[in-house]
Amino acid sequence: MSDQPPKSYLHVIRERYCKGCNICVAFCPKKVLALKSGKVFAERPWLCIGCKMCELRCPDYAIEVRAAEPEPDKGANGAEQDYCLPPEACDD
Ligand code: SF4
Ligand code: SF4
Repeated sequence: MSDQPPKSYLHVIRERYCKGCNICVAFCPKKVLALKSGKVFAERPWLCIGCKMCELRCPDYAIEVRAAEPEPDKGANGAEQDYCLPPEACDD
């Protein structure tokens, strides 16, 4: 089994170009997108699988999907480390 964290995605919406045609909403296989006040937004971004159907089908290049940057490495034991403290300050 992979110990990689699940990928997450950012949805960049260019509201100026979005005409609220609903195409991306209809093509999204995971029902991530919705319309509000005539513009699309990511209503359930955590469900996104990064297939880019929305981006490919938008006739106005108004939506772009990007892989979110992974969290910074938290060290060998998974705990946050504060390198500003002297080592003895970290002892329990
Ligand atoms: S397909 Fe493009 S223009 Fe149509 S609602 Fe989606 S983002 Fe907006
Ligand atoms: S990338 Fe795929 S799953 Fe994610 S919002 Fe677009 S169509 Fe939906």
